[in-house]
Amino acid sequence: MSNISENIKQIKEQIKKFATNVKRPQESVSLLAVSKTKPISQIIEAYEEGQRQFGESYAVEACDKIKQLKAMGYNDIKWHFIGPCQSNKTKLIAEHFDVIQSIDRLKIAERINNQRPQELGTVEIMIQVNISNEAQKSGVSISDTPELIAQITEKCPMLKIIGLMGIAEDTTDTSKITAQFQALQNLKNELSFKYPDITQLSMGMTNDMQEAISAGSTMVRIGTAIFGARDYSKHI
Ligand SMILES: *Cc1c(COP(=O)(O)O)cnc(C)c1O
Repeated sequence: MSNISENIKQIKEQIKKFATNVKRPQESVSLLAVSKTKPISQIIEAYEEGQRQFGESYAVEACDKIKQLKAMGYNDIKWHFIGPCQSNKTKLIAEHFDVIQSIDRLKIAERINNQRPQELGTVEIMIQVNISNEAQKSGVSISDTPELIAQITEKCPMLKIIGLMGIAEDTTDTSKITAQFQALQNLKNELSFKYPDITQLSMGMTNDMQEAISAGSTMVRIGTAIFGARDYSKHI
């Protein structure tokens, strides 16, 4: 027996508490349920608890699940792609997702722009920014972000940039995590003057949700605390 519905209730309580602590309304932070590697039966459990936004990282696996769920009548789910965007997967991503949070290069943005089916309309995207400055992490640097946004705005009419996404360093040093999230918040605040559509700040996962909400996150991406630990054996 899984506890998905109980877990979602608890996460929502935590979001409320962390938001209230910093005098933010609970509704200013939305919950993205990260269902990568998890079966559709568990997505349905979360759906029955009222969850409508789901995040996936592996394009092939995700598109299978999205197609199956649509065929079963689950048509009001907003699907977010949060994994690395490989060139050979952009078509699948462009055809199946409502939001793509992990755009960090013009080349990938242009592919998605060209491959997005006209009948689906524009796709919402976020720019993934490398806030931890770790070489192995995806994301454009903070300093290169304004130029990337200017180029995508000019060249990709099928893409609508709605925000920034960041992953903090995996460390127990919460002051480092906070500094990285605050840097992303500052960047978003600067950009939103010129680009009023940039309103979203996707940051915070199971282990750093509190720091993210304190630093202005508008969307936390929670996997483990909802669905339990992941088994990656099928993905390696
Ligand atoms: C897997 C993943 C998450 C969820 O992480 P948890 O620690 O399980 O909550 C969030 N964001 C991204 C980009 C991910 O790849």
